[in-house]
Amino acid sequence: MPVTYDLIVIGGGHNGLVTAAYVARKGLTVLVLERREMLGGACTTEELWPGYKVSTAAYVNSLLRPEIIRDLELKRHGFEMLPRNPSSFTPFPDGRSLLLGPDKALTHREISKFSSKDADALPKYEAMLERVADFLEPTLVMTPPNPWSLRPGNLVQLARLGLGFLKLGHDGQKAVEILAGAATPILDRWFEAEQLKVTLATDAIIGAMASPSMPGTAYVLFHHVMGECDGVRGVWGYVRGGMGGISNAIASAAREAGAEIRTNAEVAKILSRNGTVQGVVLRDGTELHATRVASGVDANVTFLKLMGNGDLPSEFVDAVRHIDYSSASCKINLALGELPDFKAVPGTTVGPQHRGTIHISPTMEYIERAYDDAKYGRPSQAPIIEATIPSALDDTVAPPGKYVMSMFTQYFPYKLAPGLSLAEEREKYADRCVDLMSEYAPNFKRAVIARQVLTPVDLEERFGLTGGNIMQGVMSLSSLSFMRPVPGYADYRTPIRNLYLCGAATHPGGGVMGACGFNAAREIIRDARR
Ligand SMILES: Cc1cc2nc3c(=O)[nH]c(=O)nc-3n(C[C@H](O)[C@H](O)[C@H](O)COP(=O)(O)OP(=O)(O)OC[C@H]3O[C@@H](n4cnc5c(N)ncnc54)[C@H](O)[C@@H]3O)c2cc1C
Repeated sequence: MPVTYDLIVIGGGHNGLVTAAYVARKGLTVLVLERREMLGGACTTEELWPGYKVSTAAYVNSLLRPEIIRDLELKRHGFEMLPRNPSSFTPFPDGRSLLLGPDKALTHREISKFSSKDADALPKYEAMLERVADFLEPTLVMTPPNPWSLRPGNLVQLARLGLGFLKLGHDGQKAVEILAGAATPILDRWFEAEQLKVTLATDAIIGAMASPSMPGTAYVLFHHVMGECDGVRGVWGYVRGGMGGISNAIASAAREAGAEIRTNAEVAKILSRNGTVQGVVLRDGTELHATRVASGVDANVTFLKLMGNGDLPSEFVDAVRHIDYSSASCKINLALGELPDFKAVPGTTVGPQHRGTIHISPTMEYIERAYDDAKYGRPSQAPIIEATIPSALDDTVAPPGKYVMSMFTQYFPYKLAPGLSLAEEREKYADRCVDLMSEYAPNFKRAVIARQVLTPVDLEERFGLTGGNIMQGVMSLSSLSFMRPVPGYADYRTPIRNLYLCGAATHPGGGVMGACGFNAAREIIRDARR
């Protein structure tokens, strides 16, 4: 008789692993099947070149839910955060620069170089965001209510949300603007210095095929302030050993709880009979049976590639087909022989300019123009760069005296204009990014030893992310909460009985939060008890 698992998890991304760990802790038999040779999905560390350990996709952490760190004892399983101070450095073409970070006095001093009014306004802006976060953050670990259902539990949950919103008072309008609006008008209202606005604005476009003047970007901006690092709100840090340190710690906790985890195990098909899931078939033809299956892969792959359309209601298939996976993010991973020597803050030994995120985008108009190129299918002539050098704080990720750099860049559209070749544009764009950084740090081009360029098409191939969308689907209001992944199916269940989604395709979406996996596990355990 073949073994029947209580739960098979498709995909060993960090969310799938969280689901596996929580469900296994309840004594259920769990099997995780990961397509790649390593775990973590978009939260992973790969030794791209001997001695260089690279966070090939996600590169900084803040969002990972504290309850998961605590429940799964992730620190005991090897997870360690390296907080960054300062957290960002923006050099400008005129030779000036801006450092921001958790050190409030330093941040005030730095902003005052450009505007003393803005230096005083920043703490008030942050306090406003915190008040809105106090309302929204608890919803991250809740299953969204279904506004189309009159079930009593559902109505109570909706009423609770309404009450929380009422408590926001005048901040309620701000919360709505954050959920639906554009980042630029909010930043314009609070600040006058272009240098501060542009540094903050890059968070509003991370992973979005949008410019900060477009609706929806305020939420992306906000999404990035909802985390914490070792208990300090809004602080982002590196993970010792790279982002794979998170996934590996979760995997270790899952194994300790009894979960079995297989790599190089690609699921080719989800099996169902009479509307109920039965198990999966692997690429090599092996059939594996389970009472429940949870997919950490995006909705497009789960429903349109791993299932026959005939198994699903046509309106559901239609809704999945219309999920927005647009993306223009390109990740460039580099091995460096020396640190960038910035004109604005010279030096090739580790300094404050190397510890945080290095922003290359001098004005708001610059970002708009970079987006304009992508709108018509062309990679930006002058891209936006967010660069990090984790080896400035972590000596385990590069050989002695050498460094790794992550460049998260935009915009490189998934769909190129007719006549453009991906192979050519990929290299030309990466050259432009290296040249651009060299304008601010003239030794940079010489410092590059090796590079890996991951356009959205490469992100799709490598990590299984449809369209190269880094969040498993855009994070705009119409795709959040009770509308994620599609309206009516936000409770982690699907039209197939005992088939669940547990990855970033679900509420609360992308980012290394673990919340999707955590919420899905709660629903699976609830159903299993029934
Ligand atoms: C370039 C990039 C940069 C990012 N930067 C950050 C950042 O700095 N900080 C942050 O918080 N977030 C960041 N993100 C977002 C974040 O990494 C993701 O939202 C998150 O990791 C998604 O996790 P997941 O477990 O839901 O899904 P995934 O990580 O997508 O996991 C899905 C897993 O399923 C596997 N899989 C796919 N198909 C199959 C199959 N048929 N059979 C078996 N397995 C399969 C995949 O290989 C993968 O391991 C970034 C993402 C990208 C791509």
